Amino acid sequence: MRIEKIRSVFHPKSAIRNLRERMKKIRCPRCRKEATWEGNPFRPFCSERCKLIDLGNWAGESYRVPTRTQEEEEDGLPETGNSTVH
Ligand SMILES: [Zn+2]
Repeated sequence: MRIEKIRSVFHPKSAIRNLRERMKKIRCPRCRKEATWEGNPFRPFCSERCKLIDLGNWAGESYRVPTRTQEEEEDGLPETGNSTVH
């Protein structure tokens, strides 16, 4: 009897409802600002600005890779056994 009462308080339906409401809102990976997922064209970001900043960072990181290989080619001598070239 007592257990059944507790069960009715922690109803699984309310937990699912809570989760669904939580999933509707997301946190912007750039500025950590809360943003809505549904109807947000810039998701997972809160705004176009954050999306562009993040895309810029990605472009900057990918740009770093060829720069590194160039430095290695200039610095590292082929005698050191740098045969593993991708
Ligand atoms: Zn943001």
